[in-house]
Parts: sequence; structure tokens; C-alpha cells
Amino acid sequence: MISILKRYLKKYIGEIIGNIAIVAAQMVIQTFLIIGEMQRIIDFGVVEGNFDYILHAGIRMLVFTLLAGVCTVATSYLSAKIVAGVTTALRNDCFHKVLSFSAQEYNEFGISTLMTRTSADCVQIQILLINFLRSCLMLPILIVCIMILVFRVNVTLFSVLFVTFIFTIFLLVYFGAKSSDAFEALQCKVDRISLLVKEKLSGVRSVRAFRNEELEEKKLAGANEDAYNASIYANSKINFLAPLSLVIMNWAVVVIYFIGSKQLQAGMASISDLLVIFQYLTYFIGSLAAVPILINMIPKAAVSGRRIKELLDYEPEEKQKTVTKYEPVLCANGITEGEVEFKHVIFGYSGATDVIADISFTAMSGKTTAIIGTTGSGKTTIMNLILRLYEMTFGEILIDGKSIRDYDVDYLRSRISYATQKPMIFQDTVYNNIVSYNAACSKERVEAACDASEFTQVLEKLPNGLESEMSQGGMNLSGGQRQRLSLARTLAKDAAIYIFDDTFSALDAKTEASARKKIKEMLKGKTVLMVAQKISTIVDADQIIVLDRGRIAGKGTHKELLENCKEYQEIYKTQCYVEKEGM
Ligand code: ADP
Repeated sequence: MISILKRYLKKYIGEIIGNIAIVAAQMVIQTFLIIGEMQRIIDFGVVEGNFDYILHAGIRMLVFTLLAGVCTVATSYLSAKIVAGVTTALRNDCFHKVLSFSAQEYNEFGISTLMTRTSADCVQIQILLINFLRSCLMLPILIVCIMILVFRVNVTLFSVLFVTFIFTIFLLVYFGAKSSDAFEALQCKVDRISLLVKEKLSGVRSVRAFRNEELEEKKLAGANEDAYNASIYANSKINFLAPLSLVIMNWAVVVIYFIGSKQLQAGMASISDLLVIFQYLTYFIGSLAAVPILINMIPKAAVSGRRIKELLDYEPEEKQKTVTKYEPVLCANGITEGEVEFKHVIFGYSGATDVIADISFTAMSGKTTAIIGTTGSGKTTIMNLILRLYEMTFGEILIDGKSIRDYDVDYLRSRISYATQKPMIFQDTVYNNIVSYNAACSKERVEAACDASEFTQVLEKLPNGLESEMSQGGMNLSGGQRQRLSLARTLAKDAAIYIFDDTFSALDAKTEASARKKIKEMLKGKTVLMVAQKISTIVDADQIIVLDRGRIAGKGTHKELLENCKEYQEIYKTQCYVEKEGM
């Protein structure tokens, strides 16, 4: 947490120094000046019966109080500025870091913990910072001022106060540090709640269709109960500290009263000295009540700080690999033809056995290469490897004869247009969804993309055409319409390689045939990779690769495969049978 705060507070060093100076001034006014004035009222006004002095001292106290008020406003402004700046930067950095992750890293961290780290954990740091800049800065200065004042008046009473105070702080810090594991466990339970809420909301239709509401509610209630228990446990480890510290300090005050009265009897202290000290103590105990509350915040914020630091300091895998294993070279000519070549590529998701094994093929530019195979045979995985969403374990993938690891990853992705299996629609206008925030995309290109993807028909029915707003996840469109919008986005991007991952599955046969024809025309001269489940989608591809449990079972045109690939024949037979049965 300290290193996170150091990193982000650096920029606000001027404001922090200003804040400390104003807080110090405020404390000096409140203690030395106002309370000092009070002592003098007793000594020179009350004891000597000098009402003029009391009146003048009263006016001075009023001015000091006004000054203290101005200081409060100034520190509030400065601390608000610092806190807002730090938390905005922290959240931005977390968000950018998350965006830089590869799919593998998303898997490793888990989406729910990434969400909690960028939201709830940042809030913990924000809460600590607000309190630190407003109260924490004030308390040490106030405590030091009061200690100095008591020391000046009576050294014995100061010793009692000082020893008790140090002992109380030690207790608070010791038990606070011991509670950190419990707060770590609590944050993990909060991660689980985020995960369940996300699952429940994004899968609300499946939950309802399968009448699983009760089960889901039970799961969420269970996770809530776990978090509740973890919260009670973690807080029970520190919540007794506030009353305990007050009891100890109040006992110290009793002891001070006792010793003070003995000193008074022995003539070692005057009444005015004792009255002033008692006044200081009332003030001291009042402000001390805030200390345990602040110290309680530290373990929670420390856990959040650790989680945020872990996220921010994480080196994304592709960068690590580029730095350690390969020299990052941006190929001189860049991607021109877009020819993709797989050479004995092997890959397995972390901890799992190989999902694809010894894959070798070439997708020529200007040609369509289709990949077909049963579900789970590794088709999407192959596409993800081209984009470097995952890093292959062995082998080589070349684009225009150069390893994809030699291309800058952003450049590589800028030359590939990818239509994902599940269309992702953003809550924005249709236009922004299509151009994907690329200002360079021309209107003609958008129109051509809409036409080729058969999205124009959908567009005509939308109230504001391209300016129509999409709801979250594109829920105001049907599955097929979402797929067409996603296709339009893919076509609107000017790339060398186009990847379509089973993107025609929700289209009816007529729309699919028309879209395929237009897409073929539009992407003339480009490298097209097309994943499909249905043979009808890829029948006219220049090359078809048949994938079976991560291995290539056959390669060739539709005609060649029908003659010599057993797996392809089986798929063909099944699909012809299903189609005939369907009729
Ligand atoms: P296909 O596209 O042919 O249906 P995929 O490439 O999506 O198949 O998946 C191939 C295999 O890899 C499957 O067995 C699947 O369970 C596994 N798999 C896919 N994605 C992941 C992932 N993110 N983590 C672990 N295993 C995965």
C-alpha cells in the first residue's frame, strides 16, 4: 500500500506540503493560541477579577476560531483535490493494465477479481486517503502539541500521559497488523460475490429458461453469508480496539487526576496548572477517539493496496516473452500480403494437455481457408494464436514469412480483422460499433460493410439508422442481427487478414449465402480464414482444413476431402442426413 501511495502521491507533493502546513497552523491555533488564551483568562482575568482582560482575550479567541475555520476549508479543498487526482489515476492505470492483458492472463486472474480490484479496492485506498489527509494529519500534530503543552506545565503528568499513549498505539498497530489475513480473505469473498452477480446478470435468460432462479439465489446467498462471516471475523479482530484504547486512556486520565490532586495537596502544582492540564486532556481524549477508527482502516486498505499493486506490477506474458526470448523487431515491410503459415504449432491452455498438436498449414493471401471440425476440436484456439491472444507452446506462426513474435503486437492486431464467435456489441451507437472508434473509417466503407454483411436491412428498421443506440450487449437486436453487426464491424476495418469464427451460425440460409457472396467480393485479394460448423458455409473455400481433436485430419478442397478424408465424409453424411430429416 505504501509503495502505491508513494507512486501516486509524488505528483501532489506541493499540495501535500501545503496541506500539512495548514493543518499544523490550525492545530497550533487550536491548542497553543486558543487554549493558551484560556489559561491566561484564568490566571489574569478570573483570579485577578480583570473583566477587560477577559473581554479582550475573548475577542482574540474569536479571531483565532475564525482563522481555524479558514484553515479547515483550505485543507478540505486541498485534500479533495489530491484524493480525486490519485484515485482517478489509480483507476485509469488499473483499467489500462487490465486492457493490456492477454486472454490467458484474464483467465489466470479471473474477471471478477479484476473488477473488484479496479473498483472496490480503489475505493478502499480512496477512503484511507481522505481520512489520512483530513484527520490523520491533524491527529499527530494535535497530539504532539498537547504533549508539548502538558510537558511544559507538569513533567510527571506528561510522563503518565506519554507512556499510556505509546502503549495504546502499540496495541492498535499490533492487532491491526494481525488482522490483515482476515481482510485478505474477506476481499476474496467479495470477488466471489462479483463473479456470481456477473454470471447471474449476464446469464439471466438461461437462469430463467432452466428455472434456476432459486438455485442461483441460494448460491448468491451462500456467497453473501460467507462474506458476512468473513467480515464479522475480520472486524472482530480490530473492533474491540476502539473501546479498549478509550478505556486505557480514560484510566490514564483518572491516574493523572489522582497524581495531580496529590501534587496539589503537597503544593507541587497550582490549581490553574491542573485546570489547564484537565482541559488539554478532555481535548486529547476527544480527538483520540478517532485514532482506532483510522487505524482500523489501515489493514483493509493495505490488503486492497497489495491487490492493486499485484495487478499494476504484473508483466503481461507477451511482453515478458518478447523481452526475454525474442528481440522485438518491427518488420521493415510490415504485413503486406497477409499470408499466414502454421509450422508444427503445439498449444495447451495453462495446466491442460495440448489442445492443438502439430498443426501445419498455409493460408494464402487472396484465398479463403476454412477450418471445420467438431466442437472443442481447437478451431477458435487456432484463430486466437494468430492474434497472439495466447502464446503457442512450440512451433512457429509466420505472417508474410516472418514470425508473429517479431511483429509489434499492436501492429499485428491492427492488420487483422476478427469476427468473434460470440458477437460483442457495445452500448453505443450502431456507427461507433461498426467503425470501432476508428475516425479514419470512411462512410463509403461503412456502407459497403453494412451491405456485405446484410446489416443494411436491419439498419433500415432501426429508428435512427447508424445513429441508433444499442442497449447493453446489443440486447435490442436478435442473435442473427447482432452477428450481422459484428460482421459489419469486421468488414469495415481495413486489414490484410480477415478471420470469421463461426460467424454465420445464427443467419438463415438465404441471408448467409448472400452475405458470403458479397463478403467474398469485398475481400478479394485478402487472406480470409473462416471457422465453420456447417459444410454449406465453406463448400466453396479454396482450402478446407479438417480438425479432429486438435490435429489436422485432412486438407484440400471440398471435392478432394469428400474423396479422401474419412472425418470430412462423416461430417458431410451427418449434415446431409440432418438436412434431409429436417425437410
Ligand atoms: P472449437 O472452437 O473447435 O469449438 P476451442 O478452440 O474453443 O474449440 O477449444 C478447444 C479446447 O480448448 C476445448 O476442449 C476447450 O475446452 C478448451 N479451451 C478453450 N478455451 C479455453 C480456456 N480459455 N481455458 C482452458 N481451456 C480452454
